[in-house]
Amino acid sequence: MKKAFLGLMMFSLVSGCVFSSTRADQLIPNSQKTLTTMISDCCTQLFDRLCGNVIDQQTLFKETCQKMGMDAQKIKFHIGNSVDDSYAQNNTVVLGLRDAFLPKREREFVIAHELAHIKNKDNRRQYILAGKASVGSFCLSIGLDIVRSRLLQTKGRAFGEFIPAVLCCAAPFVMLVAQAKRLEKEADLTAIAALKEKQGAIDFFKRFCEENKRISKVNYNQQGFFSMLRFPVDRHGNYLRDFTHPRLTDRIAYCSAAVV
Ligand SMILES: [Zn+2]
Repeated sequence: MKKAFLGLMMFSLVSGCVFSSTRADQLIPNSQKTLTTMISDCCTQLFDRLCGNVIDQQTLFKETCQKMGMDAQKIKFHIGNSVDDSYAQNNTVVLGLRDAFLPKREREFVIAHELAHIKNKDNRRQYILAGKASVGSFCLSIGLDIVRSRLLQTKGRAFGEFIPAVLCCAAPFVMLVAQAKRLEKEADLTAIAALKEKQGAIDFFKRFCEENKRISKVNYNQQGFFSMLRFPVDRHGNYLRDFTHPRLTDRIAYCSAAVV
């Protein structure tokens, strides 16, 4: 029994660490982006760029660092070499290739949001919680198991045998999901407060909703109803399998309510 618990603790620790992976952001799995939508995105963005929407990315990054009160010398910044979403990793901000072509206001928000993750030490906070939650739920599950076995001596039936084990696995996961969403909201609001500007955030999330709806529609047309299982999106454009970020409509709502 002790070996089983040790195994479960290791499992919850590892799953906790994997879940709070070093990349603070990645919204949509790229495999779900169809070639059609990617080509159409690229054409639109190329058009915008040719129309003069060109800003030196490094200059924008330095300006944004300044607004966030951070030292640009201490943070690495580069453009991703794929269509990955932007993310922050250790002391590096990577601006996704598609995000690099966003209008300046939205791009500035994306960079500020990633900088906020670094400023707030969000990766570290997730690791610490993963450790605490694993150890905590492990101890709690052992306690529960002792209580359960005492009760069993009188009742003589193995009722609830799996409850401590399920608790041991599920509790860290639930706590990490809740904290991940909280940290995302915090990063959004930190970015808005530093930039003194919320329209970039609102436009970015609205764009995301529209993009999700478009991808879902293309998938549906090409693969039928079951495409919804691979890329589930509600009617507002919220991606339903994203467990680490608040819903896009919620993000639009709280960003709109922010006082700047
Ligand atoms: Zn984020």
